[in-house]
Amino acid sequence: MNLEERFAYGSFRAGQREFAERIYEACASNSILLAEAMSGFGKTAAALTGALAAGEEKGFRIVYACRTKRQIQRVVEEISRLQAKHQFKAAALFSKYDYCLLRRGKSIPQESFGWYCSFNVSNNLCTYFMNVPLVGEEFSRMVERTVNSTPGHLDLMRESESVHVCPYEVARLALVQAQVAVVPYHYVFDKRAAPVLFGSDSPDLSKAILVVDEAHNLRDFFRGANSAALSTGELDAAIEEARAMLMDDAAASLVAFQSSLKAVRDMSSGWLLDKNSVIQAIREAHGVPWLQNLAFELSSCSGAAWGSIAYERRLPAKILRVSDFIIKLLTSNRGVLVKLQGGFGIVDPDPVGDFDGYLKGLAAAVLMSATISPSEVFIRSLGLKPSNVASYETSVAPRVQVRTVVDTGVSTRFKLRTPEMLTKISERIVSVTHATDSGVGVFAPSYALLDELRRTASRHLGGRPLVSESSKLSSQEASDIFDEFSSRPNSVLFAVQGGRFSEGEDFKESSMGTVIVVGLSLPPPSPVLYTEYSSMRRIGERESYLMLSLLPAARKAFQAAGRHIRRPGKKGLVVLLDSRFDQASVKQLMPSWLGEDLVSGDFGPDGLGTLTREFWSDHR
Ligand code: SF4
Repeated sequence: MNLEERFAYGSFRAGQREFAERIYEACASNSILLAEAMSGFGKTAAALTGALAAGEEKGFRIVYACRTKRQIQRVVEEISRLQAKHQFKAAALFSKYDYCLLRRGKSIPQESFGWYCSFNVSNNLCTYFMNVPLVGEEFSRMVERTVNSTPGHLDLMRESESVHVCPYEVARLALVQAQVAVVPYHYVFDKRAAPVLFGSDSPDLSKAILVVDEAHNLRDFFRGANSAALSTGELDAAIEEARAMLMDDAAASLVAFQSSLKAVRDMSSGWLLDKNSVIQAIREAHGVPWLQNLAFELSSCSGAAWGSIAYERRLPAKILRVSDFIIKLLTSNRGVLVKLQGGFGIVDPDPVGDFDGYLKGLAAAVLMSATISPSEVFIRSLGLKPSNVASYETSVAPRVQVRTVVDTGVSTRFKLRTPEMLTKISERIVSVTHATDSGVGVFAPSYALLDELRRTASRHLGGRPLVSESSKLSSQEASDIFDEFSSRPNSVLFAVQGGRFSEGEDFKESSMGTVIVVGLSLPPPSPVLYTEYSSMRRIGERESYLMLSLLPAARKAFQAAGRHIRRPGKKGLVVLLDSRFDQASVKQLMPSWLGEDLVSGDFGPDGLGTLTREFWSDHR
């Protein structure tokens, strides 16, 4: 084992070599390892080193799974740096939407994109796809270059455009040849994506090492992937869309589907509906294959397709959403049908399913995060057997100088969410921001609160450049916001906890010095939570509140709080605006760097301003 040769930098930082060694040992000995190190430690470079050393020694392939596109880009940066020192094949793959050259200049909604691409490809309307076999050698050379010196996303787009081929096809073929494949979670955990990732729909997983970055998100990811929701408004919009696209038969079938759902809803007083009876009732009313046929008709939209694409008319969007819902209704074995506020949901009571069995089928697995503790709760939350999983937390934390201030005079607790409370929170944000000339990150618990706080606070932040996250940003828009924030000193970023700016972002040393975390984002009571709680009760799990509600909310807050820490020695001020951060149950979950120098009290705007000025005058 030669770790130095597979490390992209001249020397390891404190703790990184040991971290890489532990990952090497786990990967070489067919183990499952839970590895924890704080933000700014340099986990990615060390994990690549350890996994690559074991992978090359044993002939295993490494699949590196990330939650967000920006996290993938960071891994790609580490890989291309390492490839300059140690040759190996690697590739990254985003979703097709991110690569499509054909959609440029057109407004194609993301939800319509899969349909848009497959229609264009199957009807020979996409020259970027058709050109792939026609420029054979040039295309092969491009794939070879891509896998030997992994380019960034924009470089790959530029090169593909110059050859006039689909960049997704280049990346897809590079991925199959890669020793290290970097992909979003869904390529790993959606069985239908296996041919893309492994080049086969029944791959030999016993030769694959899986590294999962930011693994604390896994349960949330499985919940989202295994559930579906359909609001009555969306169903109305789908009927309208079908009529507008002259799909009269589909519109009539959608009206019939809507009445069936309404009848079920009106008949049941509780939130849990009997899924099988609903399907049976629909089959009795319309015939056995009716629902399947409807899902197929909606997903293909064949009647309207030529008009939509060739004449650039309206593309189906809501229709496709209803079709996805019906497919989940018919195919989800564990899923239960529930009433949601203003609609319906298919919810999986045990979203992690047989994750334990999946991991055991691999050569090895490494689950990494900065916020896993308490690790035994995390292990159980993923349905893993603690005896099968080794845990490793690096003993070397980068020395950081973080002062944490908890203001107990405010809270985003649902019952206390009044206009007066929002004003109090805004005044505190304004006061802290005015008291520092460092960049400030404000992390709200939801998009709704983010919008309100930005609106109220921004009126009093005159002169400070403001940038803000929103719920439907494309990766390019997110990247522009990130660059704008990083390039203008004193900027203020408004973002959400658990969003794309609060995890895995690499804010430069000087760009963010102060972080304000507003509220603890505990999930509101919902049928989704009830079903998971009752499933946990059935297996005798006693810490379901900690597992499903408190810990995920605390992790989101702590991840956001650590955004400004990118290297050892970093100084920073963290302001936690919610009295619940002062509770013992939350404090005991805090990572040591956050709880080491902590003051709490009802400081009010003036007190927070004074604390902020004092901190920055002491740490200049
Ligand atoms: S094949 Fe590529 S370029 Fe063509 S529509 Fe699909 S993603 Fe876009």
